[in-house]
Amino acid sequence: MNSIFMRFPGGRAKALTLSYDDGVEQDRKLISILNEYGIKCTFNINSGIFTPDGTSFPEGQIHRRLSEKEVVSLYKNSGHEVAVHSLTHPFLEQLPTYMVANEILEDRKNLERLFGTIVRGMAYPFGTYSDEVVEVLKASGIAYSRTVEATEEFRIPTDWLRLPSTCHHNHPALSMLTDKFVTQAPSRAPWLFYLWGHSYEFEADNNWNLISEFSEKVGRKDDIWYATNIEIYDYIQSYHRLLFSVDASIVYNPTVFTIYFDYNNHSYEVKPGQTLTLI
Ligand SMILES: [Zn+2]
Repeated sequence: MNSIFMRFPGGRAKALTLSYDDGVEQDRKLISILNEYGIKCTFNINSGIFTPDGTSFPEGQIHRRLSEKEVVSLYKNSGHEVAVHSLTHPFLEQLPTYMVANEILEDRKNLERLFGTIVRGMAYPFGTYSDEVVEVLKASGIAYSRTVEATEEFRIPTDWLRLPSTCHHNHPALSMLTDKFVTQAPSRAPWLFYLWGHSYEFEADNNWNLISEFSEKVGRKDDIWYATNIEIYDYIQSYHRLLFSVDASIVYNPTVFTIYFDYNNHSYEVKPGQTLTLI
């Protein structure tokens, strides 16, 4: 049986990534929890509606966006990813395509200027989109865009511009899924646990313990790869660029990543530029 299954860096069969939206104050606390457990997150930012510096929010306001300065100091060189969430958080599918293009490209440009990186990730504001919006994303160099769909599974995504999550952090199945992910391991196709939410919800719902307990359960495990959305995307794209001879006796890695896979119950590691003979 010539079955080939992708493995993540280090030969791991499981990966975890998070995606949190809007660039709000509560991301500070979220990052400190995630950092304690070595978990990586992608933060989706609206660069057209930063809070002006020196703003004091009314008592009880839970959705508190960060200022531009605060955004840079929190996420820059943090090891987490920043990604597009549109310039001003509209329902993109309701706009003429040129306005969609402006919302995406201007946000991308601002984030690239602020962070000095190439920004290719995105999460849809409100989770809504249309086929026309997806076409604009393609034309704008966006590699993936997260929806609010929950699969309640760990399947590797295929439609990256309509990217579903495993679940939101308030999903009733979170605890069951977390236990399964930590205690079991796939023998065939690898698993990706993709969690999303807004950190202000932990304050609104008074449930910071939920993300602390999740992180404690799932963090710092040798058999899990912790990565941002774009790191996972880039690795999987590179895996798909591996070139095999038809009888699977030879593999060539034309990419810049060391790629891992299992073939006939053997584990392989192919370095960038390497040609390998398989058993
Ligand atoms: Zn949002």
